[in-house]
Amino acid sequence: MTSPLKVDLSPEDIARFGNDPTVAFAANLKAVQERIAEACLRSGRPLGDVRLLPVTKTVPAHILRFAFAAGISDFGENKLQEARDKQTALADLAIRWSIIGHLQTNKVKYIVRFASAFYALDSFRLAEELNRRLEAQGRDLDVFVQVNTSGEASKYGLHPDDLLPFVERLSAYPRLKPQGLMTLAIFSADTERVRACFRLLRRLRDRAVTVHPDLTQLSMGMSGDYEAAIEEGANVVRVGQAIFGKRPTDDSFYWPGLM
Ligand SMILES: *Cc1c(COP(=O)(O)O)cnc(C)c1O
Repeated sequence: MTSPLKVDLSPEDIARFGNDPTVAFAANLKAVQERIAEACLRSGRPLGDVRLLPVTKTVPAHILRFAFAAGISDFGENKLQEARDKQTALADLAIRWSIIGHLQTNKVKYIVRFASAFYALDSFRLAEELNRRLEAQGRDLDVFVQVNTSGEASKYGLHPDDLLPFVERLSAYPRLKPQGLMTLAIFSADTERVRACFRLLRRLRDRAVTVHPDLTQLSMGMSGDYEAAIEEGANVVRVGQAIFGKRPTDDSFYWPGLM
């Protein structure tokens, strides 16, 4: 069938995203924004404190045209290759791309060409290579430093003890524009354990900002826990499935080691 966007939807597309993905995405987006507003109200925070980063991983490029039509122009992608393919396919749209997952040093040359922000900075090697390639491109990049707050071996990010020494040297990479810290909380039904991860990131931010004044933001919270994250101080929530529906792929593809 043909939508007003003249994008052909396959039976699989319709099964996953419905007959009119723009309407579905707009409704989901509104619901998430309302819940963000309520969480802000509950925790006495101004609405402007919290930004939503829609996470588009596994949503095919042609479907993202409907997301754009629904008013979404900030796309977060976990994997660089997937982001690059989509960016190429959607080059006619004014989209801001954020890479939110682990990045191998040999992929740095690609990210610096199109990404606006990188959320998973966790090594000097990566910082060095990013800075060098950005310098060559004459570009800057917003970065978040990823911290492993759950202690799980499957999660990327700096050990909390290594954060301050890392932050102390960030100014050596002038093309990187540090924004704050990022974490993935533990995947657990025990909300107290999840909140403990958020609280740890907040405490670490309070210390990091005394060393680097630009590290003010907390990026934490996903579809299952963004309201709790906001109550614990989140400034950027990264939400995928609550907007685009459940992912067909197993999450272990994006988070190796996860069961
Ligand atoms: C996929 C992903 C998210 C969003 O997860 P949802 O469950 O779809 O909300 C957030 N952060 C990172 C790093 C991700 O890879």
